[in-house]
Parts: sequence; C-alpha cells; structure tokens
Amino acid sequence: MSAPNKSYDPVEVEALKPEEIERMRDEALAALAAAADLEALREAKAAHMGDRSPLALANREIGALPPQAKAEAGKRVGMARGAVNKALAARQAELEAERDARVLVEEAVDVTLPYDRVPAGARHPLTTIGERIEDVFVAMGYEVAEGPEVEAEWFNFDALNLAPDHPARTMQDTFFVRGAKKEVADSGVVLRTHTSPVQIRSMLDREPPVYVICPGRVYRTDELDATHTPVFHQVELLAIDEGLTMADLKGTLDHMVRVLFGEDMRTRLRPSYFPFTEPSAEMDMVCFACRGESVGNPDKACRTCSSEGWIELGGCGMVNPRVLTAAGIDPEKYSGFAFGFGIERMLMFRHNVEDMRDMVEGDVRFTRPFGMEI
Ligand SMILES: [Zn+2]
Repeated sequence: MSAPNKSYDPVEVEALKPEEIERMRDEALAALAAAADLEALREAKAAHMGDRSPLALANREIGALPPQAKAEAGKRVGMARGAVNKALAARQAELEAERDARVLVEEAVDVTLPYDRVPAGARHPLTTIGERIEDVFVAMGYEVAEGPEVEAEWFNFDALNLAPDHPARTMQDTFFVRGAKKEVADSGVVLRTHTSPVQIRSMLDREPPVYVICPGRVYRTDELDATHTPVFHQVELLAIDEGLTMADLKGTLDHMVRVLFGEDMRTRLRPSYFPFTEPSAEMDMVCFACRGESVGNPDKACRTCSSEGWIELGGCGMVNPRVLTAAGIDPEKYSGFAFGFGIERMLMFRHNVEDMRDMVEGDVRFTRPFGMEI
C-alpha cells in the first residue's frame, strides 16, 4: 500500500486513476464474456474479482488517499466492481443454462432402445407346488374350489363342529375382523384360520357327490420366525359320496404321494383328533430323503426325518356327520373324507428350506433356483 498523500492529488496513486479503473473493469468484463464454460468463468472470477485481482488491490489503495479524495475514488472503484459482479452473475446464469441444456441432451435415456438384459423373474415355489398338487387331484376328477379369506365365524368354526369354547377360537390363534354381536345372534368375521370353510361352502353350493380341492391363504396370530408365519398356505381336499370309507381316503393319499414323491412312496395313518372328522388321523409318508433307511442305522442318520423314517404330512379323516348335517347333507346317505396340509411345511422338508422367512421376503434369489416346475 502506498504512503498517505501529503495533498489531494488522486493522480499520484496510479492504480486509482479513472482510466486505470476503467481499464481494469473492461479487462474483467472481457474475461468474463470470453469464459466459454463454468470452469473458465471460475478462473476469470478469481483473476478479476479475487483478493489479488487489480480491482481488489486498487480498492485497498483508497485507504491511502487523503480524506477529500477517498469518496470519489471509492465511488469509482465501487461502480467498477459492481459492474463486474453484475456481469459475472449474468454470465454464470447463462453458462449454467447452457450446461443444463447440454446435460439433458447428452444424458437423455432413449427408452425405446432394445434392452437384452431384462432380468427374468421366477414363480414362487409355493405357487408351483400348490399347482402341482392341484394337478394331481384335478386328474382324479376333483374340482378346484376357492372362497373368501375374510370369512364368517360360522363358516370358519361353527359349521366345522368347532364349538364356541374350542381353544382354536380364542384370540390367541385367530385374527378377528369383527366380533359376534350376541344380542342379534350374529356371526363374527375372522381371517380364515384354515381353508375348511371352503369345504362347507362347496357342500352348500353343490349336490353330492362332491369332489373338491381347496387351496388358499390362511391366517393365524403367529409371529414371523424361522418356523412360523402369520400367513401361510393350505391345501385341503374333500370327497362326499355314497359309501366312501377310510380305505378310499388311504388309497387317495397313497396315490398323491406316489405322484408327488415317487412310485415307491407309502403312507400310514395314526389315530388323532379333529373336531371336523371322525375318526381322525395324522397322515405320515415314508421319508423321501432316506426312504426309511436311517431307522436304527446311525451311519445313515437322516436330518429330514430325524432318523424316524416317516414324515408327518397332514391331518385327515372321515367327515364328521355333524359337519355334513351343518352343510345340509344327509349323513345317513352320504359319507366323506377330508385331508389337509400346509404347503410351506411341504416346501420346507421337500427342499430343505430351513427358514420360513425366506419364503415371504420376496427375494428373487430364493425363488429362482426352484425354476418354473418342481
Ligand atoms: Zn429320513
């Protein structure tokens, strides 16, 4: 910075001469106008408006002027800097608009271009295994029947001989959509806990003989974990005809496991209890993994059946006459059998799926290995 002037003589400070200020301003304006892109503009700004630029240095000289000259020089420098700032902002806006327009053109995606890497989806194994089971029964003359998932309590429980005090009707197991209103003898509304209400609807809809298979989603108030899910899939079958016996049930089940798991498959029935069948049985099939060879043979231990040789597949039995009566069918004339099981469970032991959460998370990496057919 120059030493203070002794007298008022702005000409003595070279940098503050009017023509000098004009020259600096014009140089700055020319540089800004010449900047072809935002990077060049940034450089021009640093050179002509930065701390070390001629105009900034001139601004500092003002302090060295005698008081009388300060105002005039300050006004001159201020106007020059104002003009440069204004030009800078204008050029900046101009260049940004140019850049945006260019980016829009350069980075545009042509959605009409052909794309040969469309990732293939996969059907969920619950769907394919369900359809496979349906096919087995449709081939035997059964009809696929469906019903609502939000179901009247009467269809879900009462008609199936599940009395109001049955444990399955407590809040622990059932999602209630609407409770029953006792004063109007109303039926409550639930998310169906099994596909059995479809059996009742099928019997009410049709004249015997009835041969239906009822696949579908069912709901229980379980937390989602490795072995439970609040939403799962069941397949039930129902046959109503004259003279049906447990032998017909056993033969039907044997046929099903032979088609699904192989010609050498066998089933066995163990006595059990269900309100809607009498007599009732648990149905086991020979372990498809070890074919029973792991029994009493520690060298051939089987994880699938815990070396027991049998796998529990589902519940079955002869339709309880009270259920037939509730569905308007004469139990003196007709008899029937029913069978039901969970598809998730079948998928788990058939394909060694260890965590049920894998089935519901929707990750295509889980479903793809199953392919389009099981
Ligand atoms: Zn086994």
